[in-house]
Amino acid sequence: KKRVYTFGNGQAEGKADMKDLLGGKGANLAEMNLIGVPVPPGFTITTEVCTEYNQLGRDKVVELLKPEVEQAINNIEKLTGTKFGDQENPLLVSVRSGARASMPGMMDTILNLGLNDKAVEGIARKSGNEWFAWDSYRRFVQMYGDVVLGMKPDSKEEIDPFEKIIEELKHEKGIKLDTEFSVADLKELVSRFKVAVKEKTNNDFPVSAWEQLWGAVMAVFNSWNNHRAIYYRRLNNIPDEWGTAVNVQAMVFGNMGNSSATGVAFSRDAATGENVFNGEYLINAQGEDVVAGIRTPQEITIEGSRKWAKLQGVSEEERREKYPSLEETMPELYKQLYATQQKLEDHYRDMQDMEFTIQEGKLWLLQTRNGKRTGAAMVKIAMDLLREGKIDEKTALLRIEPEKLDELLHPVFDTVAIRAANVLAKGLPASPGAATGRIIFFADEAAKFDETILVRIETSPEDLEGMNIAKGILTARGGMTSHAAVVARGMGKCCVSGAGALQIDYKARTLTINGKVFNEGDWISLNGSTGEVYEGKVQTKMPDLSGDFNTILEASNKYAKLKVRTNADSPKDAKAARDFGAEGIGLCRTEHMFFEGERIKAMREMILASTTEGRKRALAKLLPYQRSDFEGILEAMAGYGVTIRLLDPPLHEFVPHQLATQRELAQEMGVGIEVIKAKVDSLEEFNPMLGHRGCRLGITYPEITEMQTRAIIEAALNLKAKGVDARPEIMIPLVGTIKEFRMQAEVIRSTAEKVFAERNDRIDYKVGTMIEIPRAALTADLIAAEADFFSFGTNDLTQMTFGYSRDDIGSFLPVYIEKGILKHDPFQVLDQEGVGQLIKMGTEKGRTAKPELKVGICGEHGGEPSAIEFCHKVKMDYVSCSPFRVPIARLAAAQAAL
Ligand code: ADP
Ligand code: MG
Ligand code: MG
Repeated sequence: KKRVYTFGNGQAEGKADMKDLLGGKGANLAEMNLIGVPVPPGFTITTEVCTEYNQLGRDKVVELLKPEVEQAINNIEKLTGTKFGDQENPLLVSVRSGARASMPGMMDTILNLGLNDKAVEGIARKSGNEWFAWDSYRRFVQMYGDVVLGMKPDSKEEIDPFEKIIEELKHEKGIKLDTEFSVADLKELVSRFKVAVKEKTNNDFPVSAWEQLWGAVMAVFNSWNNHRAIYYRRLNNIPDEWGTAVNVQAMVFGNMGNSSATGVAFSRDAATGENVFNGEYLINAQGEDVVAGIRTPQEITIEGSRKWAKLQGVSEEERREKYPSLEETMPELYKQLYATQQKLEDHYRDMQDMEFTIQEGKLWLLQTRNGKRTGAAMVKIAMDLLREGKIDEKTALLRIEPEKLDELLHPVFDTVAIRAANVLAKGLPASPGAATGRIIFFADEAAKFDETILVRIETSPEDLEGMNIAKGILTARGGMTSHAAVVARGMGKCCVSGAGALQIDYKARTLTINGKVFNEGDWISLNGSTGEVYEGKVQTKMPDLSGDFNTILEASNKYAKLKVRTNADSPKDAKAARDFGAEGIGLCRTEHMFFEGERIKAMREMILASTTEGRKRALAKLLPYQRSDFEGILEAMAGYGVTIRLLDPPLHEFVPHQLATQRELAQEMGVGIEVIKAKVDSLEEFNPMLGHRGCRLGITYPEITEMQTRAIIEAALNLKAKGVDARPEIMIPLVGTIKEFRMQAEVIRSTAEKVFAERNDRIDYKVGTMIEIPRAALTADLIAAEADFFSFGTNDLTQMTFGYSRDDIGSFLPVYIEKGILKHDPFQVLDQEGVGQLIKMGTEKGRTAKPELKVGICGEHGGEPSAIEFCHKVKMDYVSCSPFRVPIARLAAAQAAL
């Protein structure tokens, strides 16, 4: 088995499409050699060896690698005319990590390896530059000590022992910058560093180049499992099994004096996507100095440099003198760099993020990769490349990460303002966007100020209206699928949930965070994309949706097999979703409609009525409200199917729980308050989610189903009279047995016939069911024989398949993720292995009984790209998601089909 791949001098054993084996960095170093970009020679140890290392340990792996590594080092020696471990003319190398997916800065890299007390003199003589030699040496001892010898402190609070020594010496010498050290100072640093190593590790700093090399290679393998790297993988869904490759590469030096430099560059603007070359560099510096912030890096282009100076308030004169661009300091090298970035971008056909070093007037590239970018830049770059003819339409669509489109749909913080803002707390990034407003604690006071942020321990359905008015929602409790989170996402409203540091006192109307007290009316700001809570008013702006955005969505429709519907409960949401291109409603929840204004009273009257007659009277009051709501929604979706779900939640959610409201209601209904209280108590359940809800309501109180059906059918008929093409689809929730479905369908169909007879007119409508109880999926063929459509309600289906309560999962989910029992929150990312089986089986069984059965999904998962791909595979007809996720789903549906 080949474990080592060499590159150098225009030749390479690897190439760009070998990222799995060589890691991104290694594959691209090889590729750059092949296309004639100057790269210092070196070799890559494969990611497979990282796995071997984890299984077999150090000694065995060194034995396996030795012959190939020795040969590869020999190859570098030949190409560079140096010798590894030599004292007069030593080969120095860097040892660099590099995984399949880029994990910038997460793992470790060691520079200048191969130096010791003798070799440093050799380098000094050879280069005629003693300062450079010792600067390289002290950097090496520091990096090697931190990374390989474990000198780096575990906790962030402790400072690096080497940094401490540097600070001490600077203090002693009365200097500020690293560059001000004399050669003697650098020598002193090295000697003090070595003493520190000996003190902490009991070992001498290794002198042998080979010992150094093996130590560094193993340290890079180990860095795959450091905390930072593990955390980054979790965040970005990178599998732990991949492992990192190790790149060993001849050093080139940006710290050899004023004709040397190092920098990073981007072929386009990573923030805006504009096609402008940009980047930063430092003269007489090495490797990470540019990003480390030790010295202020300078801009590469004149244009960038002028812009920078303007922002910093630096005059043009001062800029030219102190912070000139590379274009000015090294015009010839700038030209070469410019040509190289163009060549790389043309070759990879994507925006490149590059590292380069200039050693005594010669340019070397050390890394190139497809650059990370904002959502806006992602869209602009893909579409620009398409227009420039560099990529085709399918490639452009595949370049766009559906999730990142979300960024384009919500207000954003002003970048300068956010940097200056003070972070108060962190919660879950429940619903993206930026919001700023004055604190209010009660939903019904959401309009108390012009701009408000609703701050709650948690929210409930009663808060809906206030949530809609507030600019943002902040809760102390609840996860990503808590009420606040789900509702906020549905509204496209910024929400941070589960910010544990918040102490809320409703009575005193105060919010306390880490001892700091905020009152009603105080300004705070929320970043729903990061979960951060800021003090005060941070400036926001609306991102503009360029023409590119629509072009992408239109192109998506050409390829997508799945239709995209929306979950919407109001004409306003339905219209918003239409504007985003939704083709129908997959889930219209009717319960939200019962909370507004007068309706809740009639609803409560219905629930609290003790006779069928009393219930019917109350329902008659609700009928006109429902009918007009349905008219609005069906009209907004004219020509497209609208799936309306019959009443679903436990009735307990609708009744008043506060004494004052109970009293009010008692008065209105002309009964004693004890009657109300008794009824409210009687509705309480141990497990409301498994209790008296869904079709169980319609079965015990058929008059509810009758009223809702009547409202739907009458609305459709009214619209028909106006010439509007209304297409209602009535959905029975929480069906577990065919008999439940049959009984409810019977009520619906007979009610519809009654209305048709009264009106002497008819319309087409469908009757179907949600599949959200495992038993329904298991008996899908029986149900499909009588149902027109299925909609997989994956929220409940996940809850019931796992047996995890959606509302209580927060107490154990973090442990489950940490222990690797679950990879994700199954309420966010569809569990294809388990829940997916039920969906697949339910769809297939359903279609054997009725080939034309329409099948969709309407849970939170309906807008999640991996679930959408799954829905495409099981040949569903559509997915349904909240209005703001419709564009994401359209793109994901296209990608699934490409
Ligand atoms: P990261 O993944 O953190 O960027 P890298 O392996 O890319 O780590 O290296 C860190 C820094 O060291 C980069 O600035 C890189 O350009 C520089 N560097 C790495 N190898 C060499 C080398 N052979 N010669 C000069 N500089 C190098
Ligand atoms: Mg790098
Ligand atoms: Mg449900």
